[in-house]
Amino acid sequence: LSEKSLIAKGQAEHSITTTCAYCGVGCSFRAEMKGQELVRMVPNMDGQANHGHSCVKGRFAIGYTTHPDRITKPMIRARIGDPWREVSWEEAIKHTAAEFRRIQKQYGRDSVGGITSSRCTNEETYLVQKLVRAAFGNNNVDTCARVCHSPTGYGLKNTLGESAGTQDFDSVMLADVIFVIGANPTDGHPVFASQMKRRLRQGAKLIVADPRRIDLIRTPHIEAQHHLQLRPGTNVALINSVAHVIVAEGLLNEAFVAQRCEKESFDKWRAFVGELRNSPEAMETVTGVPAAEVRAAARLYATGGNGAIYYGLGVTEHSQGSTMVMGIANLAMATGNIGREGVGVNPLRGQNNVQGSCDMGSFPHEFPGYRHVSGNEVRHQFEQAWGVPLQSEPGLRIPNMFEAALDGEFKALYIEGEDIAQSDPNIQHVHAALGAMECVVVQDLFLNETAKFAHVFLPGSSFLEKDGTFTNAERRISLVRKVMDAPGGYADWEITQLLSNALGYPMQYKHASEVMDEIASLTPTFQGVSFARINELGSIQWPCNAEHPEGTPVMHVDEFVRGKGRFLVTEYVPTRERVNGKYPLILTTGRILSQYNVGAQTRRTENNVWHAEDRLELHPQDAEDRGIKSGDWVGIQSRAGETVLRALVSERMQPGVVYTTFHFPGSGANVITTENSDWATNCPEYKVTAVEIMRVSQP
Ligand code: SF4
Repeated sequence: LSEKSLIAKGQAEHSITTTCAYCGVGCSFRAEMKGQELVRMVPNMDGQANHGHSCVKGRFAIGYTTHPDRITKPMIRARIGDPWREVSWEEAIKHTAAEFRRIQKQYGRDSVGGITSSRCTNEETYLVQKLVRAAFGNNNVDTCARVCHSPTGYGLKNTLGESAGTQDFDSVMLADVIFVIGANPTDGHPVFASQMKRRLRQGAKLIVADPRRIDLIRTPHIEAQHHLQLRPGTNVALINSVAHVIVAEGLLNEAFVAQRCEKESFDKWRAFVGELRNSPEAMETVTGVPAAEVRAAARLYATGGNGAIYYGLGVTEHSQGSTMVMGIANLAMATGNIGREGVGVNPLRGQNNVQGSCDMGSFPHEFPGYRHVSGNEVRHQFEQAWGVPLQSEPGLRIPNMFEAALDGEFKALYIEGEDIAQSDPNIQHVHAALGAMECVVVQDLFLNETAKFAHVFLPGSSFLEKDGTFTNAERRISLVRKVMDAPGGYADWEITQLLSNALGYPMQYKHASEVMDEIASLTPTFQGVSFARINELGSIQWPCNAEHPEGTPVMHVDEFVRGKGRFLVTEYVPTRERVNGKYPLILTTGRILSQYNVGAQTRRTENNVWHAEDRLELHPQDAEDRGIKSGDWVGIQSRAGETVLRALVSERMQPGVVYTTFHFPGSGANVITTENSDWATNCPEYKVTAVEIMRVSQP
């Protein structure tokens, strides 16, 4: 259907190469244009992440950019619920700046903050954190990576020394054993999934750890050797039991560990995982995975040749998300599966620019390049470059902003490209926090759920309407090129600049490339990056500097970024979220191929043909026990709230576990997810919610 409607648009007159704005694969496309009209998106044969491939999102789900729902004029209103009033850009920016300064005068410097998004370019994200640090004068900046891969940053930094995946995608073609943990690449990262499947069809072995029987486990000519179908929330128990087998059965790569890792930390870790309480037999009642299956999988990973781990949000979105990331890094180091092609620790980043948004310093404790704000040397470097004193104390994370708002201490928020009123957990809590603020500014394409709580709306730009860069899951920085004008008149980075100037902190960039030049001058891993070099090379994988002038496809080759690899003890601590008689099932969440995250874009495209609502998947036994059939309406109740979805009875589920996506507002999963979060980073525990379900009449 989509293809036909695109063909109907006729012949293109010219094409411009750009980068997909959906998932972390970062496919390269040619946008074929007829004047200012987009005729079609064609996957670029020279694309270094996709080699001419694409999926239904990047290729077809582009109609949202010209959808009539686009807001094209700035709007303001005095109170939530009042009608919006269209105003000039000048008035909107002046009003916003005045409100932020009034609020800071009345409630203090730290009563305001900003949130950026992985949908934004690197340059936009960099400017949002600069606006917060230099113009607001605090560190209250955060990003939606908080709710997805913040544990990756924490876990990999503390073990390997760098907050990023270790490999390029092509490395999978040299893997002998592919260990997929808590990821569903077929739906979440389709183009990379195809590459992974090519390697599996060539004979690589597959281990999958997932509560659901995801499609990858059995697909034409592929059958996983092991499916470790664990109970949600028991990842760390499982990884410890895999490690136990490797230690107890003498499958360690002792030579690698001796040469490349800290001895003391390794000895501690080995003693810990070697304890019998971490054995697969002891953990079987916790994880639900038969001990023999765990033993066989551990042997395969440790002895089957090149072992490559790919993981997703099923690892990070837990109360022990950071612990699990460290557990994965421990495993790779212990078996020597790191530092060359075909192996590694590979987080599959959800959004197009999650990696970049973290790289650009949009966390409240880190400057660009993952350097802590308390470090005097780096802070002075930024103070000198930006010409203002900067704070040395970390600012508020997103959940802390909500708490402070409910305590009456946090009053104004600038939100660029994120729909926190739909995407964040326990949305009743989020709504209350937003409702308690005096000035909420939403900069977006549409009046999203968060805009219902906004006082100012600034029309943002889609990826087709601006220049910039995205960084994909393999640290690959690619150019996003403007192919048409933004209907609102400005690229997002220009709007941030207008606001900064109105606040009295001057920004004078004439083009996004000048922002990248500044990033490169202040960030050691980006020193060799510029628009001109990316143009010349096609893309660049950071670190790119004097040591690695062409970029770095595989990291930690001769030594780890931190020097010696550090093992960390990963004690399993059960989540606070418990099933009981009232809430006997566990709900876990995920994504589907044709839709994307909160659906703000894909719901406004023809992709709705394939998936027009979120559904609740449940095992036939749980369905039978409750008299539920596929298609029935089902009420779902948790400790946080309740919602209604249609049932999909499926053998993919295990008994006692139900599953849904969160692509549609209103009835979405986040009405019922809780506020539990990762101990280190506050990444929400989206993957474990105790619920009860019952058949109900149509809502
Ligand atoms: Fe876009 Fe990801 Fe699909 Fe590639 S795989 S076209 S980056 S959504």
